[in-house]
Amino acid sequence: MATPIGNLADISARAIATLAGVDLIACEDTRHARHLLEHHGVTTRLIALHQHNEAEAAQKLNDLLAAGQAVALISDAGTPAVSDPGARTVAAVRAAGHRVVPLPGPSATVAALSAAGLADTRFLFVGFLPAKPGARRTELEGLVALEAALVFYEAPHRISEMIADLCAVLGPERQVVIARELTKLFEQIVSLPLGEAADWLAADANHVRGEFVVMVSGAPRRDESELDAAALRTLKLLLAELPTKQAAKLASQITGASKNTLYARAIELKTN
Ligand code: SAM
Repeated sequence: MATPIGNLADISARAIATLAGVDLIACEDTRHARHLLEHHGVTTRLIALHQHNEAEAAQKLNDLLAAGQAVALISDAGTPAVSDPGARTVAAVRAAGHRVVPLPGPSATVAALSAAGLADTRFLFVGFLPAKPGARRTELEGLVALEAALVFYEAPHRISEMIADLCAVLGPERQVVIARELTKLFEQIVSLPLGEAADWLAADANHVRGEFVVMVSGAPRRDESELDAAALRTLKLLLAELPTKQAAKLASQITGASKNTLYARAIELKTN
């Protein structure tokens, strides 16, 4: 189930009732979880489940579930299995025939997107990019043409080099939204062209502190009504030999461009 990403009040009534009502809570870090639970008066027993022990801990949870116990799974912040442990546990628990019930709530991605104001209707959650510069750039190169906003998580010690790579690979014109310390005291959200982001980070030591979600607008959508040079040339050649409709159909099959767009352009060419 989801837990706050900073502000301890960002938790649903259903989540608190569930945390109080289950027999056991599996959590990444018991001290961290205790802080949240004490704040809400929950005294349920805890068990550690983190990336280094997930397989054994999941097995233990299955034994407890088989014995009729109810177990909740939380991570340190936000939604489990989103750049956090949880997916392997969920798979193991479901494979053992137990029911998995999601309790929705905070996630840094959705919180950041809701305040980003990006025009893209689609987004790709990338999460953390590789720490090594070469691997990071290679991964970004694979995303250049994607017509969807890109959502990244980043740590403060890597934010400057990560932004520099975003600019180098995706280009300085795209809009970037940097959301830091969401729901916390020093929350800050800025939107600017990628080419200006390095200067913004360097302008104030506080700008590189805290937790970050970085969102970048997607590659511009290719306008369906625009024909590229190859499609237009093919259309013209075929029009010289064939009736309009047939030329448009064939040009579409050869180039992959829209038949309707080619037909409309063919009519224009014939009448001019
Ligand atoms: N499971 C979490 C979720 O649902 O968002 C993500 C956990 S991941 C280990 C932690 C990363 O999420 C941070 O390094 C940061 O990139 C992002 N993040 C978490 N809380 C945040 C916050 N309050 N403001 C901005 N980013 C945050």
